[in-house]
Amino acid sequence: MVLPAEPEFEQALNELTHSLGPFLAANPAYKKAFEIVQIPERIIQFRVVWEDDKGQAQVNRGFRVQYNSALGPYKGGLRLHPSVNLSILKFLGFEQTFKNALTGLAMGGGKGGADFDPKGKSDSEIRRFCNAFMVELFRHIGADTDVPAGDIGTGGREIGFLFGAYKKLQNEYVGILTGKGKSWGGSSIRPEATGYGVIYFVEHMIAKSCPEYSLSKPSTLVAVSGSGNVAQFTALKIIQLGATVLSLSDSKGALIAPAGGFTKDVVEAIGALKLRGGALAELKVDGYTYHAGKRPWTLLPEVHIALPGATQNEVSAEEAEALLKAGVRIVAEGSNMGSTQEAVELFEASRVKGGKGCWYAPGKAANAGGVAVSGLEMAQNSQRLAWAPDEVDARLKGIMSECYKTCLSAAEKWSGEDASATGDVLPSLLSGANVAGFIKV
Ligand code: GLU
Repeated sequence: MVLPAEPEFEQALNELTHSLGPFLAANPAYKKAFEIVQIPERIIQFRVVWEDDKGQAQVNRGFRVQYNSALGPYKGGLRLHPSVNLSILKFLGFEQTFKNALTGLAMGGGKGGADFDPKGKSDSEIRRFCNAFMVELFRHIGADTDVPAGDIGTGGREIGFLFGAYKKLQNEYVGILTGKGKSWGGSSIRPEATGYGVIYFVEHMIAKSCPEYSLSKPSTLVAVSGSGNVAQFTALKIIQLGATVLSLSDSKGALIAPAGGFTKDVVEAIGALKLRGGALAELKVDGYTYHAGKRPWTLLPEVHIALPGATQNEVSAEEAEALLKAGVRIVAEGSNMGSTQEAVELFEASRVKGGKGCWYAPGKAANAGGVAVSGLEMAQNSQRLAWAPDEVDARLKGIMSECYKTCLSAAEKWSGEDASATGDVLPSLLSGANVAGFIKV
């Protein structure tokens, strides 16, 4: 069948196909399952008409891709960004299916959103958009069928508007969204969870591959991209632990810190700026340098750990080469499919060199902490209970540790590489995550 070109989805599918090669060759009975899992169970597309502050009608395209419910209710975020289209939502829903499997929790995979641009919109416009979006979405979701959450452009404020709209439409107070404010059933640590989870995952990678580095040593240099929820809490956790955060960025440019790295105050100021819809270029802090039109990767002479936390395909081949030249030893994605296929190939080639190569962790493993705490929010909502922050954090750590171990053991078994030949080759977390996620689903 001839299908329309879907570049992002095809990229995600090619990656999985490649990773599953050795496993499917040894287990041909799974080939049909692989064919089945590629197709979303259901795609819902709808029109969203809302009123702007001038009283004019505006229209956007809304989507929900209910990808796979083998393991539980569809679960995954809503992206509000002008780039949103079906290729992007299909790639995200596909990735989400395997990521959710890697958390060990009972969640299927889904994704949704709209080509609505929250930038430059007033609070009231965002509220009216969210209301209009929910007027269609509410009939397709439910605490035991499909539970959306945040993603790019959808934070606590938007989830609040959407939750309020659902309650009015359905006259039901249940956990149909995660990432809610605490007063209406949100979980502690949910805003922090993706960023913290990346760090908990990376701590395991450091211990195995480069114990000379440590997130509690200021001499360990970490490049972070993005400045949204994921990047902010990734940076704050690193600062809390003691290592140095070199960079942050947004869609218009990169901000590089002076010696000593980003401070907590500056990261928090960026959080406030982003909530107002501001750009990093506006931030004037002594010693920090702003590079318009750049991402951080080519701007840093020395990097030990790189954590892409902005969006898909935000590390190109050229940027991957610059990172390798700067001495990067770990790349772990806070974003979904943060690296282009060519960049991933360069990281993977560096890994098999052994010794001082770079170890790469794909987003579906490294950033699973966000959706994992969403799963914990669903559990708390079902129980009508709220767990203490320490309890949620401890569970998040446990889930990231299990996720790492699952990826590692699947990698050792199914990457098709003979590690014993060279002794110190690091197993491919890319194949590990893909094979382990697929087997579970
Ligand atoms: N959008 C996040 C992700 O990519 C979180 C999804 C969720 O919490 O359901 O995993």
